[in-house]
Amino acid sequence: MHTPDSATATHCPYCALQCGMNLRPEPGGASVVVEERADFPVNRGALCGKGRTAPAVLSSRVRLTGPLVRTHATGRLEPATWEEALDAVAEGLARTGRAHGPDAVGVFGGGGLTNEKAYALGKFARVALRTSQIDYNGRFCMSSAAAAHQRAFGLDRGLPFPLEDIPRTGCVVLVGSNPAETMPPALRYLTELKANGGTLIVVDPRRTRTAEQADLHLAPRPGTDLALALGLLHLVVAEGRTDEEFIAGRTTGWAQARAAAMAHWPELVERITGVPVPRLREAVALFCAPSSAMVLTARGPEQQSKGTDTVGAWINLCLATGRAGRPLSGYGCLTGQGNGQGGREHGQKADQLPGYRKLADPAARAHVAGVWGVDPASLPAPGRSAYELLDALGTEVKALLLMGSNPVVSAPRAAHVEDRIRSVDFLAVADVVLSETAALADVVLPVAQWAEETGTTTNLEGRVLLRRRALTPPPGVRTDLEVLHGLAGRLGIEKGFPTDPEEVFEELRRASAGGPADYSGISYARIEAEQGVFWPCPDGSHAGTPRLFLDRFATDDGRARFAPVSHRDAAEVPDAEYPVLLTTGRVVSQYQSGAQTRRVDELNAAAPGPFVEIHPRLAARIGAVEGAPLAVVSRRGRAVAPARITDSIRADTVFMPFHWPGEGRANTLTNPALDPVSRMPEFKVCAVRVEPA
Ligand code: SF4
Repeated sequence: MHTPDSATATHCPYCALQCGMNLRPEPGGASVVVEERADFPVNRGALCGKGRTAPAVLSSRVRLTGPLVRTHATGRLEPATWEEALDAVAEGLARTGRAHGPDAVGVFGGGGLTNEKAYALGKFARVALRTSQIDYNGRFCMSSAAAAHQRAFGLDRGLPFPLEDIPRTGCVVLVGSNPAETMPPALRYLTELKANGGTLIVVDPRRTRTAEQADLHLAPRPGTDLALALGLLHLVVAEGRTDEEFIAGRTTGWAQARAAAMAHWPELVERITGVPVPRLREAVALFCAPSSAMVLTARGPEQQSKGTDTVGAWINLCLATGRAGRPLSGYGCLTGQGNGQGGREHGQKADQLPGYRKLADPAARAHVAGVWGVDPASLPAPGRSAYELLDALGTEVKALLLMGSNPVVSAPRAAHVEDRIRSVDFLAVADVVLSETAALADVVLPVAQWAEETGTTTNLEGRVLLRRRALTPPPGVRTDLEVLHGLAGRLGIEKGFPTDPEEVFEELRRASAGGPADYSGISYARIEAEQGVFWPCPDGSHAGTPRLFLDRFATDDGRARFAPVSHRDAAEVPDAEYPVLLTTGRVVSQYQSGAQTRRVDELNAAAPGPFVEIHPRLAARIGAVEGAPLAVVSRRGRAVAPARITDSIRADTVFMPFHWPGEGRANTLTNPALDPVSRMPEFKVCAVRVEPA
């Protein structure tokens, strides 16, 4: 295996912080080691354990190094040549399309794919397969924040300001976010905030390691963050803390939003959320005292059947107090997946075209069709969202191409999703290891990993970054772009699917030109010279846009829009049969479905398996014993994992991390109730029964 002589500057393959790192070839050139990259401003050399150990997956003994095809003779996945495997995939997809129409073929992507891959996958679905049925697991990540962003500001970018602004603001409200576990290097920004005299409020049903650092921790009942935000806004109005000049000059819709908030008086909010009124008043005082403040949300408020409205309520709080569209103030979303941001900008989402254009917009269709050299009328309409697509497998969607995702572990109501996946006529999976989903496939395509291919990602700040290839992939492995090129050719599309990432990026630039996420002024050379470039960047002389909305919002009239939102219950509330709330999340040493991190010994030693976090009072009531197996049962199934008794969680709630398959699979339990706007499933709250197993 060839490696270059010197270290290659690149970025971590995991979360949306996209920490910079150097990869230096090991003696003999068989692998690389991670070295500090102190010049990259986002993490300034710091890495969490996942980033430090990422090269272990490159040389893992369970890594796929050749294609696998399921044979009729044995019913098992057997080694095959690339020609045989690609022929089988092309034939499986084409056969289904011929028999049942193009929309019987589905495509499911991932928030870890580079911009180039996400772009090529969206184009492949719409041009080569002519199917509308494409979505990706990023839908499960931040789609509610994206929808709320669009509604309020006319544009969705995770953070409208760089991370470096956080230590210089006066107060940060962190809602449903636990960077101590999810992105530890980002904690430094909060530490510096406090060192500079700023205050930190954490909203989380658990007293997490992040919450322990807060000046004020509010622990609402899961699924009630919307009421909490409305209660805070009520107090802001009642205490005369609104910014009337900002509201009059830069917003619309205040009267309706104000009326909705006034219906949520503090005592009512205390009853709904469990947060005492004095704590609500304290939060308002901390948030309103300084001249600048931020609200940052993550999956807590977003992964709910009312996630869009919940985020909207927190945005309302920012707008009413003049904490948006001004320096060091604003609302932002801490995106989770490595390329969750870029993945949703370039066309693998059911309703979008590259450049964050809307598939339903005739002008957007004409522009992108022009770049692709096809008739705009040939582009399909928007398709199903991620869960709806998975739910339609085996009935309306009969074949699936899946790239960079493991929904058997990561989708809600996972046992049902696994059944649906098992029921398709044909399944092809491109992955680096035999994930739980790949193990069900008819064809498995082994693909290159992050260090073995070049491509761009867009981090949670909207900063477009370049990962450079540091290693040659093993001989039996191809890149995702090579896979799409090979499949497109077999489907009769000889041109338009290049294998060179930079060539794909150049086309992506043209496709995004003039769109909301305009990359046309960004090049590989600029990214390397400038430590990333913030979109929108409409031409080569444009400096990029680290800070959005300072002059105007991206709506037609330039004003931010209040959302007239009211509290409503989660899709499931506790009852006699299911009296406890379940919430799910991550631990620091595993990542998402664990497909990669469960293959790293050091990470497994730190986080070997699932657990159920339970309060001592609830544990005593049901007879739970520390370390003994506990069954958690919802309307969708049953999971079993050891009890972890702790007073850091509410007594009416249990918590499970979702990284593992098998009997401890948390997503066996979760509720696929969807947000009506974002189509986000309600991962964060459902009703369960808990009992010793
Ligand atoms: Fe990688 Fe995220 Fe850890 Fe940084 S914080 S090293 S990007 S997983």
